[in-house]
Amino acid sequence: MKNILDRVNINSKITCMVFVILCLIIHTMYLVVFAILGAWILFFIDLLSVLFYSFYTVKFRDNADEHILWAYYEVIIFAGVNEVILGNRYGFYLYIFGMVAVICFLDTNYTIRKLAQQFLVLIIAVAVVYISENKFLFIESQERRLSEYQEYFLIGNVIITIFLLMLMCLLYMIERNRLQRKMEFYVNHDALTGVYNRRAFYYIIKDSIKEKYVIAMVDIDDFKKINDCYGHKTGDTVIVKVADVLSSNPKQEAVIRWGGEEFVVFFPESDIDMIYKEMDRVRRKIAQLKIQSGLKEFGLSVTVGLAQGTSKNDYEKVINLADEKLYIGKNNGKNTVVK
Ligand code: GH3
Ligand code: MG
Ligand code: MG
Repeated sequence: MKNILDRVNINSKITCMVFVILCLIIHTMYLVVFAILGAWILFFIDLLSVLFYSFYTVKFRDNADEHILWAYYEVIIFAGVNEVILGNRYGFYLYIFGMVAVICFLDTNYTIRKLAQQFLVLIIAVAVVYISENKFLFIESQERRLSEYQEYFLIGNVIITIFLLMLMCLLYMIERNRLQRKMEFYVNHDALTGVYNRRAFYYIIKDSIKEKYVIAMVDIDDFKKINDCYGHKTGDTVIVKVADVLSSNPKQEAVIRWGGEEFVVFFPESDIDMIYKEMDRVRRKIAQLKIQSGLKEFGLSVTVGLAQGTSKNDYEKVINLADEKLYIGKNNGKNTVVK
């Protein structure tokens, strides 16, 4: 089950649209059945529902979830009217009960409103069952036409209600799963660049350090000037580009956004001389980047400080050392790697 849920990407718009289309199909089915049996009063009531869902699917194609309450009221009215006309042996009241759960999945926004809706459904359901039990508004002509098939109607309505409930539960689970994965991602990742955040770093480093490792502290040069000349948005683009180049390096195990325009790159089981060559290649690659801002084009550079660590317990010292090397690089003209 987990694999299916992970692979499918559903959101509340899709869930609501699926529900509306299913309602349209079910009502169309009933339209045919009522026509065949010659139950014309029920046919015309059902025709209103078919028109309603046809209008809904066209009009709210892109925001089905925002208007889903209309579908909720339609189901209750349709089921209520059928109950009153036919009596409760046909099982149309099941749709009213089903909606108590379905609306929870479809309308995920307002708790108080939702409770009020469910309470309303409860009152309507009790009233409808009472009225149909006592046959106050019984339209005999319609019931006579359907009575021979009463059991089939009941079984059909039970199956449709359970099917709708199961499907809505499944779609809701898929959506919840997607949101959970998204949340888990942002707990450990930076929202702008998608690389790890500082919080994740401590878990990564504790899990990955075996013997020796190298930490690179990377800082974009004169970034404040980029922001001042080209604007904050272009500044963000520069940060993303640098993160992309750092992430594309095959030797790194993790890229962490350490601060505004600072990154830490973690190389497990690595030798500092080898990483020096690697990071110098990365530095040159970044220095060749061309960033477009309106009609203007500009370049950028980074300075890198490197430090070697040998045990799990010294990583804070190693980070400080890499920071000191970075500082040396900044004082020696920037756009350089210092080990
Ligand atoms: P140096 O070469 O010495 O590193 O100078 P610098 O200008 O790069 O460094 P400084 O620390 O003076 O400025 C960093 C600037 O980065 C200041 C801050 O406004 C900006 N900054 C921090 N986070 C973000 C961000 O997420 N987006 C943008 N666009 N700017 C940011
Ligand atoms: Mg900087
Ligand atoms: Mg900085």
